[in-house]
Amino acid sequence: MRRDLKRLRERMVKEQIEARGIKDPLVLQAMRKVPRHFFVDEALENQAYCDHPLPIGHGQTISQPYIVALMSQLLCPTPGLSVLEIGTGSGYQAAILAEMGLDVYTVERIRSLYLKAMKLYRELRYFSIKLKLDDGTLGWPENAPFDRIIVTAGAPQIPEPLIEQLADPGIMVIPVGEGKRHQTLIRIKKEKGEIQKEDFGGVMFVDLVGRFGW
Ligand code: SAH
Repeated sequence: MRRDLKRLRERMVKEQIEARGIKDPLVLQAMRKVPRHFFVDEALENQAYCDHPLPIGHGQTISQPYIVALMSQLLCPTPGLSVLEIGTGSGYQAAILAEMGLDVYTVERIRSLYLKAMKLYRELRYFSIKLKLDDGTLGWPENAPFDRIIVTAGAPQIPEPLIEQLADPGIMVIPVGEGKRHQTLIRIKKEKGEIQKEDFGGVMFVDLVGRFGW
């Protein structure tokens, strides 16, 4: 069983990630290493490496592997940088970032998901990931600024506190859309006080719910 899952993971990286143009060696190595099947319900373990998102309870989802890889690559990751993630969910995206050597802070608003991720990180020995139960649209001011910010829920607009807490230079990746469940993936670069935005096409995320969200 374990060997099968490892083979499925290897195939996922080849067919869903590399074949679609993800080239960053750090991202590929992390996607090969993190055991995604631990981040889904046991009953869904066999689907963990399939080409789609999966339910994780409370109406929330773990993102499709390709989207995790794409967002990770868009962050231009370098070991040692600090990154703030909004929307811990299953904890998978944050584990990928930690595996790439980033200093990870992640915020989740649903208590049971937060507790589950915390337990899983202990079991999988991701001791460096810092978690917080809170409204992530407010950021994590005590640890700001962050070199990188990644939002893994769909926002009606870019939360102002996150722009403020982004370092200069810094990069943020966030799905933004005026309609629920349909957003455009945006990358924001802050440099010398200026904000530059790039558009990476349509995505579908669950809602970012909070003071600066829905
Ligand atoms: N990154 C996750 C996918 C998350 S799904 C993974 O790898 O599995 C989006 C998550 O964002 C959900 O768990 C949802 O509860 C959370 N969320 C939504 N609004 C939030 C907010 N304001 N602050 C923190 N988390 C939020």
